[in-house]
Amino acid sequence: MNILIPVLIVTILGLVFGILLALASRRFCVEVDPRLDKIYSKLPGANCGACGMPGCMGFAEALIQGTCTIDRCAVTEQEVRKEIAEILGVEHTVKIKRAAVLHCHGGNKRVKNKFDYVGIQDCISANIVMSGPKACVYGCIGYGTCAKVCPFGAIEMSTEDLPVVNEDKCTACGKCVAACPKGLFSLVSVSKNFAVRCKSLDMGKKVMDVCSVGCIACRKCEKACPVKAIRIENNLSIIDYSLCDNRGQCFKVCPTKSIAIKENKSWRTKAQGE
Ligand code: SF4
Ligand code: SF4
Repeated sequence: MNILIPVLIVTILGLVFGILLALASRRFCVEVDPRLDKIYSKLPGANCGACGMPGCMGFAEALIQGTCTIDRCAVTEQEVRKEIAEILGVEHTVKIKRAAVLHCHGGNKRVKNKFDYVGIQDCISANIVMSGPKACVYGCIGYGTCAKVCPFGAIEMSTEDLPVVNEDKCTACGKCVAACPKGLFSLVSVSKNFAVRCKSLDMGKKVMDVCSVGCIACRKCEKACPVKAIRIENNLSIIDYSLCDNRGQCFKVCPTKSIAIKENKSWRTKAQGE
């Protein structure tokens, strides 16, 4: 008889707490949007962070909250974007594929060195020491920091220690753009076939003193372009890709071969082609 009373009390308490917990869980439960898992399962799972979110799950949540758009993920294919748009109930827009383009052609055969660098083989570290060992302070240092940060293996270093971008593998995530201490990459529509391969802001003679393929701002390209898509700014030729329609007159007239043409998805300058 003595044992029955504590058992009864514990049973009643258990029941009361059970009911309270059930009520609390219903009151404070957080509803999970059923679209979250569906969208997450369609994302690549690369967790590269290039969309600016903490991984693919963070990106899926941001899409549902409406704080970013599908095109912020550079890795998803067009077809998958369409499927995600359908899940979200929003209109799907076709994105033009872009790829990273390097604006320097001063490999180790064409640019002089100003000193021997013996520090860490990393462009950011080397750049801290007198802007790197290359005599051109604007050009590629060549230690391949861009290739190391690319999450998609889209960059390889050439025998001249210049990065070569594989257009098919590049997702235009922009990691190389952010990592290069010289700011040598830009993301360009893959439909464009001409690019300036120089970033030097020096005057012509100073460019020629250190590099055999740099832009000397002679304005021949500017004069030759019938649609005014290329102009000289701060001693450097710059292509306006909203105007460029691939006529290539600039490539033909450039005396220093600092403009490159894209053929079969790879860039070459006249300096390489001759
Ligand atoms: S492009 Fe920039 S990051 Fe890449 S090797 Fe050259 S200097 Fe280094
Ligand atoms: S890091 Fe550069 S090369 Fe690699 S995928 Fe991103 S944009 Fe393309």
